[in-house]
Amino acid sequence: MSSPYAAPVQALIDELGRLPGVGPKSAQRIAFYLLQVAPEDANRLARAVTEAKERITWCRRCFNISEGELCNFCLDDRRDASLVCVVQDPRDIVAVERTREFRGLYHVLQGAISPIHGIGPDKLRVAELMRRIVDEGITEVILATNPDIEGDATAMYLAQGLRPLGVRITRIASGIPVGGDLEDADEVTLGRALEGRRVVDS
Ligand SMILES: [Zn+2]
Repeated sequence: MSSPYAAPVQALIDELGRLPGVGPKSAQRIAFYLLQVAPEDANRLARAVTEAKERITWCRRCFNISEGELCNFCLDDRRDASLVCVVQDPRDIVAVERTREFRGLYHVLQGAISPIHGIGPDKLRVAELMRRIVDEGITEVILATNPDIEGDATAMYLAQGLRPLGVRITRIASGIPVGGDLEDADEVTLGRALEGRRVVDS
């Protein structure tokens, strides 16, 4: 079936429809909104996308998003480099920072172990984490992966792999709704979960 829209409009709808959380109806609505706004407004959006893609890279130490080789957390020498909070996604760092409970550094796995989606530890920044623990004198690793099946499995896998390295391994306490995302947790709940973290002894 051919599209009822001109090819450039259909291409725009298709691209918008690829964005997370944007269904076909929303993609159409946003596309028509963009066609109606002033050219400079639409261009500002296009430029923001291009610039973010050109200027932002991964921190070579913790794999957070970064404008330079190292992200702002890794560059901040007031932070406690012996303490590392392991998260799935750079957005989770924002959530942990909001609690103001944590003054250590981060390590972003860039996902979670998920056999269904074919994501094994080799697809995540696990080897880089192990290397950091050996190289950087890290004494405690806080496993702050999401409290769902994949996040728990990832935490368990990491705890087993990290144990021989002799670091203290803790997991954030429950309190965050099971199945929820770290980034959706309010700062009080997440702050308590950090404070009440427990040593992983499995
Ligand atoms: Zn970093």
